[in-house]
Amino acid sequence: MRKQAFWRAGLAIVLLLIGVVVCGQSEEMSCIALLGRVIDGTGSDPIEDGVVLIEGEHIIAVGDRQSIAIPTDAITFETDNATILPGFINTHVHNSASWWMVNQWILGGVTTVRDLGAPPDEWQVAAARYANERTYPTVLWAGPIVTVPNGYPIVPNGFESLAVESPSDAQAKVAQLIEDGIDVVKIAIQHDEDTVPGCLSLEEIQAIVNVAHEAGLRVTAHATVSWDIRLALDGGVDEIAHYLDAPGSAPWLPERMVKDHIAWIPTLAVGNTRTAPELIEFIRLGGIVALGDDAGYLELVDGMPMWEIRAMRRVGMTPMEIIVASTFNAAWVCQIDHAVGSLAEGMIADILVVRGNPLDTIDALNRTLWVLKRGLLVVDNVGEP
Ligand SMILES: [Zn+2]
Repeated sequence: MRKQAFWRAGLAIVLLLIGVVVCGQSEEMSCIALLGRVIDGTGSDPIEDGVVLIEGEHIIAVGDRQSIAIPTDAITFETDNATILPGFINTHVHNSASWWMVNQWILGGVTTVRDLGAPPDEWQVAAARYANERTYPTVLWAGPIVTVPNGYPIVPNGFESLAVESPSDAQAKVAQLIEDGIDVVKIAIQHDEDTVPGCLSLEEIQAIVNVAHEAGLRVTAHATVSWDIRLALDGGVDEIAHYLDAPGSAPWLPERMVKDHIAWIPTLAVGNTRTAPELIEFIRLGGIVALGDDAGYLELVDGMPMWEIRAMRRVGMTPMEIIVASTFNAAWVCQIDHAVGSLAEGMIADILVVRGNPLDTIDALNRTLWVLKRGLLVVDNVGEP
């Protein structure tokens, strides 16, 4: 009870003093010290008795408690068995225009999401609405999925997308999306004689990749079978989204993807997780896997995407591999690794603190204590049981 009162008071002080506390050299900045086990997101060994020091929006120090001087005016956050991690990044979601969804994500400690397919008229409205929101996750956008008029997901899902009819048409329409402010290009590759008659051609994929790469953006491809993945890779895409429909069907895939520096966002939550030979082989060869659960598709309940995280564990990823996939790798895939995804001096203070050690029990990731977004305390669950 006393502890709870202490933390409530702490929160009040944080809110009261933002803008007036003097911490270190700079004025008008609050200073926060998080104490506990530090897992920095890069795959480095945890610091058992660690400190993360935050001033304003940025991390100013990370290290062992013995080696870091905590400023006397810092507001200290400490509780039993806490683990401090970078805020999680979900690199494959939908439905981000929903306030309910973004609220669930921040409550779960997901501080950035990347929306890989929204109706053409919806995403810019939502992007403008979120632009100045500091207490919600950062949302990155692909805008509409690029496909052909009779291709997936227009057929069979009826999902509003951007249909292109030739390489030059593809180039022009994707150039317009880039002009409109997208962060990544999403294409759909799915051949299926019975249900999906049309698909982007190799030449159309290459045209899309060229215009995206010229603008410094990556291209991510929806693909679920080996021949579609091969087409996407031949076209020069940067990432494959989804899992193989038939695990064991593409023994060539791990080596090819590692050689071509292709990231894999397996979205196991919407696929088959009975076995995952290609995915695990890909990781063992040094391939980059990032967290993404396809939230909003099949109406997955989201927040911290535990369904996906538990599936990653079941197929054989280690807890540390899952954390790296959800932080450092996910930031790299989203091209924001210079700012977030790891705990280090100079990085933006998007931070998740959980109770317990996720390296022992992966479900500890679901026990959120605090979430900081750009240095601002936005979730405080310490009073919760
Ligand atoms: Zn998706």
